[in-house]
Amino acid sequence: MIIDLHMHSNVSDGSLSPSELVHLAYDNGVQLMALTDHDSMDGVHQASAVAEELGMGFIPGVEVSTGWGGRVIHIVGLGLDASAAGVDAFFRDVCTKRDRRGQLIGERFASFGIQGAYEGALSLADNKDNLSRTHFARWLLKAGYVSQYQEAFDKYLKTGRPCCVEIDWPGLDEVVELIHSAGGMAVIAHPGRYAFSEDWMLDELFKKFQALGGEAIEVCSGSQTRDADQKFAEVARQMGFLASAGSDWHTHGGARPLPGHQSPIPEDLTPVWRFLRHL
Ligand code: AMP
Ligand code: MN
Ligand code: MN
Ligand code: MN
Repeated sequence: MIIDLHMHSNVSDGSLSPSELVHLAYDNGVQLMALTDHDSMDGVHQASAVAEELGMGFIPGVEVSTGWGGRVIHIVGLGLDASAAGVDAFFRDVCTKRDRRGQLIGERFASFGIQGAYEGALSLADNKDNLSRTHFARWLLKAGYVSQYQEAFDKYLKTGRPCCVEIDWPGLDEVVELIHSAGGMAVIAHPGRYAFSEDWMLDELFKKFQALGGEAIEVCSGSQTRDADQKFAEVARQMGFLASAGSDWHTHGGARPLPGHQSPIPEDLTPVWRFLRHL
């Protein structure tokens, strides 16, 4: 069975509408998918209706930004009810912070002589209520301030660069609690991407997450290396985490594999989707 439990639509920083994304996943042979936009479940209703029409398995999801150990950690919530108490308010609050951060990023760019970055980024966001650093990167490219998309991150926007403004993201405990209170399961996204200064900090993250009741980790992710997939398969075995898998697809021409094209999880691991209700 071809599964993909991590993908983005234009409700966050992906380029396709939820409906177009479901069609793309279907055309790539995906039989069970989750839509996991950053900090918003606003696309889930449209995506699930289209998946139902196509007779494809669908799990509602979200990729929640959280702060831990001085890093931004992404927690994927799967199978949660978007209409459960507190869910909408939680994400609206985060998206308000995203907009305020966007204004501050715009001020940083202005101090480098780059005017109008906030307005420019916003003009490229299909969902004005979920502004991302990726919209700034796209605008910088379009306006000719960089010659490659990646250069925008490397020069200005990635952690530690001058136009990266941090947000006081919700804590790990709050995020796991929210996902559970809405009936979902919590998954550490792409564990191979957290560049902690010390390896033990990643171990601490796994322990803390497990102590909070976090159920799964993304063993196979299109946004980490195959070596990382193997390393985290072993972590899942050792620590008893359920295993998830997803492409983390955002856009055509991007760095991520097509929907469903991440590597399959090793057979001996227990897949998280076994415990999730779906269409
Ligand atoms: P945000 O949630 O608005 O801070 O933006 C984070 C998004 O930017 C991630 O989900 C990725 O899509 C993208 N991103 C983050 N860091 C990088 C990087 N170093 N290079 C390219 N894209 C990145
Ligand atoms: Mn993204
Ligand atoms: Mn992520
Ligand atoms: Mn993602």
